[in-house]
Amino acid sequence: MNVPTHPSATALHSQVAIVGAGPIGIELAVALKRANLTFQIFDAGSVGQTISWWAPQTRWFSSNERIAICGVPLTTLDQAKATREQYLNYLCSVAQQFDLQIHSYSPVTKIQSAGDRFAVTANPVGGPEVYSAESVVLAIGGTDFPRKLKIEGEDLPHVDGYLREPHRYFGRRVLIIGGRNSAIEAALRLHHAGAQVSLSYRGSELPEDGIKYWLLPEIKGLLKAGRIANWVGTTVQQILPGAVRLRSVHDGSITQVAADDVLTLIGYEQDKTLLRSAGVQLTGPTDRPVYDEQTMQTNVPGIYVAGTATAGTQTSKYKTFLENCHSHVDKIVTHLTGDSAAGVSRAYEDQITAQPES
Ligand SMILES: Cc1cc2nc3c(=O)[nH]c(=O)nc-3n(C[C@H](O)[C@H](O)[C@H](O)COP(=O)(O)OP(=O)(O)OC[C@H]3O[C@@H](n4cnc5c(N)ncnc54)[C@H](O)[C@@H]3O)c2cc1C
Repeated sequence: MNVPTHPSATALHSQVAIVGAGPIGIELAVALKRANLTFQIFDAGSVGQTISWWAPQTRWFSSNERIAICGVPLTTLDQAKATREQYLNYLCSVAQQFDLQIHSYSPVTKIQSAGDRFAVTANPVGGPEVYSAESVVLAIGGTDFPRKLKIEGEDLPHVDGYLREPHRYFGRRVLIIGGRNSAIEAALRLHHAGAQVSLSYRGSELPEDGIKYWLLPEIKGLLKAGRIANWVGTTVQQILPGAVRLRSVHDGSITQVAADDVLTLIGYEQDKTLLRSAGVQLTGPTDRPVYDEQTMQTNVPGIYVAGTATAGTQTSKYKTFLENCHSHVDKIVTHLTGDSAAGVSRAYEDQITAQPES
């Protein structure tokens, strides 16, 4: 097994700087290595930071072969979809296998054009470090902050945009706001963990086509039986200490529901700061970066985007997932080298997109 050496031992100049060590940043790093291009890779947090904040034992909705990277198989002992823990372990194994030297806990805060290069400023605990690179790839994801309801009481300490360790909710009255996979999965998990769960969703019915088929029968059954309190068809008016005021979308009536914890599982927003400061234009309702679909290059020559970062802030109907971003890696390597040598992830994606979504 290769144990990665500390990145500070490496040169400060490279051909490519990758911002983001999520699955796509890592997949790109391996492809650059295979293509003999030098690179630096930075993450604001740990490797796979986005996945690290999922609640313990959360499972991917995607099948393992769709979220595997670099052609390295992802298998689980029971053939089930990988959990957060299994996937983080897998990401670290890939980083070790390919001897990636990742600058973790080094948020990149500035990318400045400097002639034919970019000056990339990373901020590890010891203070800013400036690297130079001929190209920069922003693989920064799109889930930096929980989406806000913009209502009174949202900043109270018992309101949270993240599902935590389910045990902490035992015996608590938890109101979950949202009606898609994350909210439904949280409702089911907390119900089974011994919480008294209520579910508020602003649509008059649950969006069944947006809920995974294995979650739907159970949530419908529990709502119908009243074991999860059914507040589908309500909007949240105000959050108070210990209670939430809900308005019916049918008749406008207001009900106050007791809640010790409130989970706002209504999606996440992309932090646009780095994109904007680097001069990348944003467009459309999701404020997604402007880029050429053939090359992944943005309006700033030499700056590329990859992975879910390409989609901006996705609305409730997420369309861009890890599983349909693998080809970004090949497009970037092909554009940088003029050679489609990487090929592995593209071929792999073609293979998996030919299958029905699981
Ligand atoms: C509960 C849950 C379940 C999900 N299930 C699925 C699923 O089943 N299938 C699926 O495809 N997707 C799923 N997703 C979405 C999944 O998280 C993304 O598809 C995947 O993480 C995208 O990979 P990425 O590499 O594009 O971005 P990310 O994994 O988000 O990686 C981006 C990285 O960039 C880093 N970064 C950001 N800004 C900076 C900066 N300025 N400097 C340095 N680093 C920075 C972040 O710390 C992060 O590590 C799920 C999400 C949630 C919340």
